[in-house]
Amino acid sequence: YKFTPNDLIDRGVIGEGNFGIVCKMEHEKSGTLMAVKRIRSTVDERCQKQMLNELDIVMRENTSPHIVQFYGALFKEGDCWICMELMDTSLDRFYKFVYHKRHQSIPESVLAFITLATLQALDYIKSTWQIIHRDVKPSNILVSRSTIKLCDFGISGQLIDSIAKTRDAGCRPYLPPERIDPLRATKDGYDVRSDVWSLGITIYEIATGYFPFREWTSVFDQLQQIVEGPPLRLTVDRLSDNCKDFVNTCLNKDENQRPKYKKLLEHPFVCKAKESKQAENTAAYLSEIIDGLSENTDTFEMYYYLPPNA
Ligand code: ADP
Ligand code: MG
Repeated sequence: YKFTPNDLIDRGVIGEGNFGIVCKMEHEKSGTLMAVKRIRSTVDERCQKQMLNELDIVMRENTSPHIVQFYGALFKEGDCWICMELMDTSLDRFYKFVYHKRHQSIPESVLAFITLATLQALDYIKSTWQIIHRDVKPSNILVSRSTIKLCDFGISGQLIDSIAKTRDAGCRPYLPPERIDPLRATKDGYDVRSDVWSLGITIYEIATGYFPFREWTSVFDQLQQIVEGPPLRLTVDRLSDNCKDFVNTCLNKDENQRPKYKKLLEHPFVCKAKESKQAENTAAYLSEIIDGLSENTDTFEMYYYLPPNA
């Protein structure tokens, strides 16, 4: 039902991104907790109307178990507030805790479940809402004690434009070569296969504990490496050939060779994760890690980690 910013009580900051902050808020009358993303925005009223219309599309019936529920969007003093389901944490904090605090690695069966769930979510927003995500990365995959859910898709093009200029260079490049190199940029716009690349980088990162392009220090060097360097390859003994093949297929530098979602959903790496006992096992694992995370007070997730060979 309808609510205004005045119905919400601030319960503190959860995180900060390029676009603004995310707060935990409580809807006073119902006691519902939610995550509210507050985006600094300078758009005028006419643009605000259009943005709300665009945001409405993600308010349509959501029957996917792997997409974060939207509660609504509103404007307060020009800022756009996007209200959504509150989750326990995001995959970037989750994996940094596992690898760099516990000195463990995420089991392959859990990696496979996360991959399958993210693929299903991406396929769902594309086939039912005609939305291409454009910002697939670990911090946009949220984790609860029972499952994972994708967020931050379908944010209004207007909104993206109005904040694109303020976007700092500190953001890590999850973009594929064809999005970086203007000579290769496809004229017909963003293709799902760009998201397939970002998914490959994301799985690489959570499978190893490291963002793959840290070796080439500056963001400029990283971008050049993505475009001109040899193809990135996941080569870890601990992981199965199926897992490595899945990731390396997503990381094909030629977007025409990269498979789309339907094909990837048939890959043996994710097929195994379709069994219901995999969902149960994953839930048990997620629960255990989140228990550890909520007791932890260190700010370890604020730091970047250098791979051993850097
Ligand atoms: P980014 O995704 O680039 O980190 P965001 O502004 O989208 O920046 O989010 C900042 C942080 O807030 C995320 O990294 C995540 O940890 C947290 N967050 C975002 N949305 C939610 C949510 N619905 N539930 C719990 N935590 C969230
Ligand atoms: Mg985000």
